[in-house]
Amino acid sequence: MEDFMNMDCEKRLLLEFDSKSENEGFARMMTSAFIAGMDPTLEELADVKTAVSEAVTNAIIHGYRDRTGTVTIRAAIHSRELFVEISDTGVGIEDVCQAMVPLYTTRPDMERSGMGFSFMEAFMDELEVHSGVGEGTRVRMKKKISGGK
Ligand code: ATP
Ligand code: MG
Repeated sequence: MEDFMNMDCEKRLLLEFDSKSENEGFARMMTSAFIAGMDPTLEELADVKTAVSEAVTNAIIHGYRDRTGTVTIRAAIHSRELFVEISDTGVGIEDVCQAMVPLYTTRPDMERSGMGFSFMEAFMDELEVHSGVGEGTRVRMKKKISGGK
């Protein structure tokens, strides 16, 4: 996927926050506010919020585990296309392909179901995951927002 932050876009968002679970709702709200001007349908809005919160939750619980780090959200709108990137500088993922398999989780003890990446894939048009052990994880997603009109 193109590096959308360097694209010529209509609107951009850059958000950094602490990896604390109380910030999950904040991330969802900011995402909604960012795309509100695109007049998304309720379904499109729900899809985007779900996908973003799955990625944010992953950064918080898997990326940083027991420590607090920074979660970054970058987003851009370009001709009715929403680009969003959620990144952390946490532990990283050893095998991204394996991590993306439905039901795969490294935290069954935490009652995780291993469906986060599957939801992101289902609710967005494109999903790209880059990760390096000890470096962190970057999730990029893209979705066309047709809107209600
Ligand atoms: P669920 O999302 O259903 O609660 P889950 O988080 O385990 O469960 P996924 O979101 O699909 O499932 O993620 C699969 C696995 O990928 C995780 O168990 C974890 O090992 C790894 N993972 C995902 N995101 C990150 C991240 N940001 N940093 C480190 N590891 C990650
Ligand atoms: Mg998850």
